[in-house]
Amino acid sequence: MFVLPELGYEFNALEPHIDALTMEIHHGKHHGAYVEKLNAALEKYPDLKDKKIEELLSGIKDIPEDIRQAVINNGGGHHNHALFWESMKPGSSQNVPEAVTKTFNTLEDFKAKMTEAAINRFGSGWAWLVKNGNNLEVYSTANQDSPLMEGKTPVLGLDVWEHAYYVKYLNRRPEYVEVWWNVVNWDVVNKRLNT
Ligand code: MN
Repeated sequence: MFVLPELGYEFNALEPHIDALTMEIHHGKHHGAYVEKLNAALEKYPDLKDKKIEELLSGIKDIPEDIRQAVINNGGGHHNHALFWESMKPGSSQNVPEAVTKTFNTLEDFKAKMTEAAINRFGSGWAWLVKNGNNLEVYSTANQDSPLMEGKTPVLGLDVWEHAYYVKYLNRRPEYVEVWWNVVNWDVVNKRLNT
């Protein structure tokens, strides 16, 4: 049985960049619903309920067909959001990993690449920094698809579903993406890169 993880900070902690109402609805309602629906889907398969979410997603091809899409959507939604909350903190931190500048040249180059992936994702999805073997890559996925399903390890994810920004930024996704960099928790990015 999966549970909605605590945010780790107050709903208003990321103001003015990400507003409290967005955080409250996004965490409680959206992420909450993914967790509920994931548990409901696994109801029929008690053995799967004790697995880690990472195992379910990495082994998505082995998930029974009748619940596979539900696990993709809701298991992906659960893992993506858990990672997202952890990836942010009030005031950010400037501890940018050497691996990032080594791969993408400067921090600004990396940000530009991830921003482009975020803005060009058509419809709902995520922009990602992932580990693919020994390499770092930036790309995007549709809906709640997790990089784990294609053998990649997510390091930093940016939610570009409208529910992530519409309350404050309306249709202005580029503005949301730009301010999001102010709340990135680079300490966590470093930790993920070193494990
Ligand atoms: Mn979301």
